[in-house]
Amino acid sequence: MTCRLRVPLSLFQDWLDRLAEDPSSVVAVPMSFVSEVSGTPICVVRQPSEERNSSAVLLVFGDPGVPESLSGWSNPPALRGFLWIGLGAHRGQISGVVLCHDARFRVEALDLVGPGMRRLPVLDTDRPSFADPRLSRTVGALGQATVNRVRSLAVLQIGCGRNGSLLALNLARLGVEQLTLVDPDLVEEHNLGEMEGVFESDVGLPKAVALARHLRLVNRAGAVQTISEGASHADCVAAARECDLVVSCVDNDPARLAAAILATIFCVPHLDVGTGVFLSEGARLAGADVRLISPGDGCLLEWGGLARREEAVRILSGLQAAPTADWQSERMGSLRSLNEMAVGLAVQMLLDFVSGAIQGSFWQQLELSPQGRASIAHPAPNRDPACRLCASLGKADL
Ligand SMILES: [Zn+2]
Repeated sequence: MTCRLRVPLSLFQDWLDRLAEDPSSVVAVPMSFVSEVSGTPICVVRQPSEERNSSAVLLVFGDPGVPESLSGWSNPPALRGFLWIGLGAHRGQISGVVLCHDARFRVEALDLVGPGMRRLPVLDTDRPSFADPRLSRTVGALGQATVNRVRSLAVLQIGCGRNGSLLALNLARLGVEQLTLVDPDLVEEHNLGEMEGVFESDVGLPKAVALARHLRLVNRAGAVQTISEGASHADCVAAARECDLVVSCVDNDPARLAAAILATIFCVPHLDVGTGVFLSEGARLAGADVRLISPGDGCLLEWGGLARREEAVRILSGLQAAPTADWQSERMGSLRSLNEMAVGLAVQMLLDFVSGAIQGSFWQQLELSPQGRASIAHPAPNRDPACRLCASLGKADL
């Protein structure tokens, strides 16, 4: 039996530095057991914290042979793992094993979550790459390895409205093999103007279901699943356990916060798209925020945050009722042109993150002036060393 190990790239680099300094040292980090994807369990390395006597632990060491500190383990935790990273003469070699009660899993791949989204095969189980003539021009722009990695991502997309339908279509065109669409809303007549992939005959159907039908025509090889519930529903949480990337294209902060929490605890990147168009005293104000959060490099609350954070927390905790959809739609206009710009930015950010061109979390803020001039800013994050969301990185089993 084999498993996969998911590690934030920043932590992995830290391990390498520590082992390079002292190859005989042992680095102990807490880890969580997430779930199974196609029968392969995944273990996630958690944010190191003050917790002692962790019920699950991964020991990382650089010298060949089992380090001495392992032999005197009198009361081993139910879940524990060992990862050996070859250094010096053993450079390039890596092996690992995870013990869960009496079961033993060899680590088949190390997912380094972060820029490049690299998957290091530990056993020789990498799927053969194949060239799809439909994407030859994209391969010409990005390279086959990046295209293959993007296609292999299991994507959980929360929100299938105006931005979400455009983004999902882009993912389907890229050939993403596993896409789960989450949206609690039904297609209404006023969606038909700006949404992608829905038609008059879809009015009254769940948005996710109607969109999925269209995507299956675009990408017959891909698997599209639907959840016609909100982001905090148990089905969505279960789907998040099995994903490599969380995308949110929602028009409310509670759902955006739920997406950020799922991405953080399951240690996967989070791509968030938000657009807004308002008329204020006759002048049009239009803009978009597109944020890509790399696990371990801050969280959505630090990279731009939420407009109504406290309210979002209360609604998500069930302490306050969510505002009705009508209340929201009355306040907002929408421009498909703006949505396309924002989604175009988001898709390119994802591709550049997977290729490694984007190193770390990244925020692009698009503004369309009342005179029609588009500009893009790259605001800095507002980091908080005491951030509770960041502290929950990888705590998938808590
Ligand atoms: Zn944070």
